[in-house]
Amino acid sequence: MPLPPDLHVHTEWSWDAPKGDMEGSCERALELGLPAIAFTEHADWALVHEGQHAVDLAGYFDAIERCRSKFKGLRIMTGIELGEPHWFPKETAEVLAAGPLDRVHGSIHCIRWEGKMLDASQFRQRAGLDFPAAVREYFRETLAMVDSGQPFETLAHLDYPKRYWLDGLAPYREKDYEAEIRAILSAAARTGRVLEVNTTRGHTLCPDITVVRWWREEGGQAVQFGSDAHRPANVADGFLLATQMVEAAGFKPADDPTDLWRR
Ligand SMILES: [Zn+2]
Ligand SMILES: [Zn+2]
Repeated sequence: MPLPPDLHVHTEWSWDAPKGDMEGSCERALELGLPAIAFTEHADWALVHEGQHAVDLAGYFDAIERCRSKFKGLRIMTGIELGEPHWFPKETAEVLAAGPLDRVHGSIHCIRWEGKMLDASQFRQRAGLDFPAAVREYFRETLAMVDSGQPFETLAHLDYPKRYWLDGLAPYREKDYEAEIRAILSAAARTGRVLEVNTTRGHTLCPDITVVRWWREEGGQAVQFGSDAHRPANVADGFLLATQMVEAAGFKPADDPTDLWRR
């Protein structure tokens, strides 16, 4: 079975991808036999990291056109990863108006905690943080994003904080957050969203099979795959395992290999 499209790839056009390389990522996708790739650069407005900057969409679209004429055998899709779009409706609308975007991801990276914005990747550094409480707040924020009516199609890396789990803590278990996660999935299904299985560059399935099964139970129709690669070598990393997992959870590939997987 051929691998599905990688619909979550960052390149040099994302502020946090110094090793990103759109052309190199196309080459890697062709090498792997991927039918399609989507470049979903970061649009983050919650300023929590050094060096964050907005994506230069004009330059990005030029680069897409260059790659499309250079790599004819690959379907190259445009996209964007919106960070906390419901906090920034005006900025979100501006980005979405800038040009045709094939894949629009809605992502929560940050929560509001003790009056500040805190990225889940910073949870570990926060001494004394009540981790499970912060994770519950993360899921509450994700539900707020899904319910906000912001026009994104893909619910990206649903359980992102587990990538940054604290050593010594009881391990992350979906069961401990079942009510919160099911509420998100049910709202996402109701609003026609697509669940992303994000392979975290081959390290961690976000989410794992338990959640993909719940997605089906809550009425979810479609699943897509994303590596979250920030450099060419990670394109489609972890996809073999991810596709087996999604199939076991009751979703199958479409006849058109560039299409989403459906129940
Ligand atoms: Zn993300
Ligand atoms: Zn990403």
